[in-house]
Amino acid sequence: MSNKSELLLEKAKKYIPGGVNSPVRAFKAVGGIPPFITSALGSKIYDVDGKEYIDYVGSWGPMIVGHRHPQVIEALQKALTKGLSYGAPTEAEIELARMIVEAVPSIEMVRMVNSGTEATMSAVRLARGYTGRDKIIKFSGCYHGHGDFLLVKAGSGATTLGIPDSKGVPDDFARNTITLPFNNLDAVKRAVKSEALKIAAIILEPVPGNMGVILPQEEFLCGLQELCHETGIVLIFDEVMSGFRVAWGGAQSLYGVIPDMTCLGKVIGGGMPVGAFGGKKEIMENLAPLGPVYQAGTLSGNPLAVTAGLETLKILAQPGTYATLEKSSEYLVKEAKKLAQKTSVKTHINRVGSLFTLFFASQEVIDYDTALKSDTVAFSRYFHLMLKGEIYLAPSQFEANFISLAHSQEDLDKTLEVMAKAFKEL
Ligand SMILES: *Cc1c(COP(=O)(O)O)cnc(C)c1O
Repeated sequence: MSNKSELLLEKAKKYIPGGVNSPVRAFKAVGGIPPFITSALGSKIYDVDGKEYIDYVGSWGPMIVGHRHPQVIEALQKALTKGLSYGAPTEAEIELARMIVEAVPSIEMVRMVNSGTEATMSAVRLARGYTGRDKIIKFSGCYHGHGDFLLVKAGSGATTLGIPDSKGVPDDFARNTITLPFNNLDAVKRAVKSEALKIAAIILEPVPGNMGVILPQEEFLCGLQELCHETGIVLIFDEVMSGFRVAWGGAQSLYGVIPDMTCLGKVIGGGMPVGAFGGKKEIMENLAPLGPVYQAGTLSGNPLAVTAGLETLKILAQPGTYATLEKSSEYLVKEAKKLAQKTSVKTHINRVGSLFTLFFASQEVIDYDTALKSDTVAFSRYFHLMLKGEIYLAPSQFEANFISLAHSQEDLDKTLEVMAKAFKEL
């Protein structure tokens, strides 16, 4: 039963490692063949076999206003006629920077880069340059892109020295990374107590989405802020996923906890390759050309990327957008919970705004360890039943799903219908 996607995957594998340009796209966690996509519109994506899916991946977050939004496309078409890249400053960059600074409480100055990975790498370098310290604390299950010192797995003990999560990352890099359990303030306090003056930064996803969605405990976020304030450690919120997603001003505005620095990406590029990092002026002014911390990018602030981001933010800035996202998301998750209760399937759904994960778990999922207890076999079966029903979910138990402004009531109801059938067949 070979279809076009299957043939294309075989062809792709000849030229591209695994046939994909980012690992999770290969469906390794769930098995099967990833549909090759030809186009997208609104809440839908279309594959080479002529199938139409309701899309809950949204390019992993950026497509919050829906695919091919007319306002974004029109602005891009206009930008396209002027030039692709100059490697020189443009006025549109000021406008995007201003919007980001006005929206995100912690950001007084911001620098654009080309990906979330670049944003976190640069933010950590800046925090190190600013503090003159080397070590960083991260949390197990939080993903901050694929920079060497951030690709570190949790050890078993609370302050276990980092072990690289990937071959090719020297132990020496990982040694400066301390990995601790999320939502566990005591573990952070213990780690900081033993070596506060060596720690440059604490970096976290304030709403983790990369081990599946996890709800942060407010005392945890507040406690980190206080601890950093007392010790001169730079608190970095990696809001590459949550920024302009869980709220206009990101998780920091939702929970009222203001970090020293913030990383952005995904939504602020509206589907183009973009990242950004920003924070307090006092810290950002250490960046070249003003200060001694070097960071640069040939295509940073690229006119097309900036245009897509700017138009996406303009659409999001209109009144009622986040209320709409909240309403659709609340409806979908509330009804999904009801469906799950009617069957013997044990699930827990975590949701913050338009981000959600349905865990096949019998207990609450509050951190990486509890997430890992999920039944990934049941998830894979569920995933493929949904895909067969033309619902495109993130192809892993440990990923977030994304609802956009383009998801209609009809889309949500169809999704629930397919879900009800899937639960029965599991
Ligand atoms: C996606 C993501 C990144 C990496 O961004 P890329 O653009 O893929 O490099 C970093 N941090 C978080 C929280 C993310 O969700």
